[in-house]
Amino acid sequence: MARSGLAVAQKALQNGMNVLLSDNKIRENFQNIEQIENLAKNYESSLKIEFGGHTEKLFNMDCLVVSPGIPLNIPFLLKAKEKNIPLISEIEFAFQFTHPDTKIIAITGSNGKSTTASLIHHLLKSQGFDTILAGNIGEAYSCFDIENKKDFIVLEVSSFQLELINDFKPDVALILNITPDHLDRYKSFDDYALAKFNIFKNQDFQNIKILNFTDITSKNIIKKIEQYSDMEFVFFANLDSLEGNDEYPTLMKGGYLQEKKIYINNIEIVSDTDILPLKGPHNMQNILAALLAVSPYIDLSTIYKNLCDFKPLEHRLESVVTLKGVEYINDSKATNTESVKKALLSFDKPIHLILGGYDKGEDFYVLTDYMMGKVKNLYLIGNTAIKMKEIFQEKFDCEVFLSFEKAIFRTFEKAHEGEVVLLSPACASYDWFLNFEERGKIFKELINGYNK
Ligand code: ADP
Repeated sequence: MARSGLAVAQKALQNGMNVLLSDNKIRENFQNIEQIENLAKNYESSLKIEFGGHTEKLFNMDCLVVSPGIPLNIPFLLKAKEKNIPLISEIEFAFQFTHPDTKIIAITGSNGKSTTASLIHHLLKSQGFDTILAGNIGEAYSCFDIENKKDFIVLEVSSFQLELINDFKPDVALILNITPDHLDRYKSFDDYALAKFNIFKNQDFQNIKILNFTDITSKNIIKKIEQYSDMEFVFFANLDSLEGNDEYPTLMKGGYLQEKKIYINNIEIVSDTDILPLKGPHNMQNILAALLAVSPYIDLSTIYKNLCDFKPLEHRLESVVTLKGVEYINDSKATNTESVKKALLSFDKPIHLILGGYDKGEDFYVLTDYMMGKVKNLYLIGNTAIKMKEIFQEKFDCEVFLSFEKAIFRTFEKAHEGEVVLLSPACASYDWFLNFEERGKIFKELINGYNK
């Protein structure tokens, strides 16, 4: 009964269905209880609600729409499967209501989804298209008036959502990258990677399938899994960050970046990437992917100005302020090690790194090489702090903090002119915060408070 669940209920009720909302959480713990009660009032006869756990009543339903937060291996869902009750995700549900002439552009990946989805949305909107941006970013797909035709729906989709699709068929599907994340939720990394590849499952030869040429996991899947080896993919690659790879072809179809220039289908679109508002090698990949996604619909010779207008999202390598020569960067959205690697690659100055949070089962040791010679001090926070101290204390100056405030205040003492203070935690935020937005906001408030 959080955001996507309520959106599904509302859409189903509006369409004359009977709905049972079921949640493990007890009534008292719902912050949005007023919204739930209003819905119940409006649909007295067709809406039933159960708090504090799932009951057998759910087995009487024709279909279960499973929220992305719920692991598929809980006994209750295993029993539902045994009983052959269809389980679908919110995107599958909403897809069933979507006007058939609306084009769907779906984006998944371990990192960069929100940035790329917002950029695609921005480029389409700037060219006058009627476009919705939905999914993990902003509001759920089901919230919108999707029954009526729009030009585009741009969807950010997670692997959880893709696990439960039947007919979901995007016109353009894109996987940005596949690196370890959410390992607490999957049996293996392969399971996680294959869930992402479901995005292509129902596409036909006319639909566009975009992949990252430099992503090893994606390449292995298309080599090894028959279902995907026959598909025709369009690739993008950042040749400037391609290390010693000589097998890269000049792509007639596809996109690449070389010496700060961006080419799509071998035509130069950007002549100097330094001028663009999105910075860092990882963002160049996001730009390439976004340009390929819109290329069938937009004359790319007119796109340069719109690329320059794009405002980077909050909490992603966001520059907060420079105080006494120390630059403060909020990268609260860096919830896995891969995004922290990218953040570390984006700075040439000594870094004071604030790391730690809710543990998703990742191996943090992989950060060591990226931190060497760059990270001056480590400020460890959250549930993973002790574990991280054991990993890093031999090579780095580490300190564990029992509060976020104390960690930030210590950076004020320790960082000097010409250095960077970087919040890029490599972990989710649920241990100390409501979400990554709250973590980033508090970081900014503390710094701006110090400034005043
Ligand atoms: P997502 O929606 O997939 O979580 P975001 O665009 O919100 O992605 O970015 C999340 C984090 O990943 C940020 O720290 C950002 O700087 C970093 N990031 C963005 N794009 C990429 C990419 N292509 N590869 C690796 N890290 C990235």
